Amino acid sequence: MIDFNKVGKIYPNGTEALRDVTIQIPQGDFVAVIGLSGAGKSTLIKLVNKMHEPTSGVLTVNDTVVDSTLKGKTLRRFRRKIGMVFQSFNLIGRTTVIKNVLAARVADMGFFSSILGIYGTENKKIALEALNQVGILEKAYIRADQLSGGQQQRVALARTIAQNPDIILADEPVASLDPITANQVMKDFERINKNLNITVIANMHHVDMALKYAKRVIGIREGLVVFDGPSSQVNEELLKEIYGRELSDEDIMFKPDEE
Ligand code: ADP
Repeated sequence: MIDFNKVGKIYPNGTEALRDVTIQIPQGDFVAVIGLSGAGKSTLIKLVNKMHEPTSGVLTVNDTVVDSTLKGKTLRRFRRKIGMVFQSFNLIGRTTVIKNVLAARVADMGFFSSILGIYGTENKKIALEALNQVGILEKAYIRADQLSGGQQQRVALARTIAQNPDIILADEPVASLDPITANQVMKDFERINKNLNITVIANMHHVDMALKYAKRVIGIREGLVVFDGPSSQVNEELLKEIYGRELSDEDIMFKPDEE
């Protein structure tokens, strides 16, 4: 369970990115966070693994309070249960897919094994299973930079699964992919959420993709949560309230004439 209780975030330069956020996300939810650029979406998800720290209120993630006392070894252990997927994939291009995924296992390995790159059968099995979950097992021994964008995002997702997380945070995971590939990657998220009961919180630039895949939508406007409910409840009027304007082509991945 992730529990935001009146959480606020003011950056050191004085920017108030989030105000009075009170939301609860139970284990296994699939949440899309939507809103205009600069609304505070990224800040919201980055608070969950303490990439940023709340400046007011109380944030609790699986019984751990995320504040200045969470540091060092305890912070590293806390972060191991939270995977992160970025728009830019963040893979090591010149090494193989499986080695990229195995990187997620290093935290659980002994010091010598990790520096010698001796991963062991068990870790390899975990890595291969993760690749299988995202349907690219056959790419395991190919260099990561030889894959398409969509395949690279799937490797990034497999790397996150291999970490055995409770939560996956995804910052605009499909914004740089073409619509067909984006759908495939979102289906992977959907399957992982369902099969492994991993909580998924994704910032979504494209409203149609958010509504199609997430069960729950959190709408943010100027740092305030202005909507929190099932995606089935989101209508045009609500979107206007979240975005403060009519939707534009930019906000939608599949334009009507492409469907
Ligand atoms: P979104 O993800 O919705 O685009 P962000 O969470 O990135 O929004 O940003 C929310 C607000 O906080 C914006 O005004 C942004 O400029 C500001 N902001 C984000 N990161 C920082 C930072 N590290 N330092 C100062 N201001 C920031």
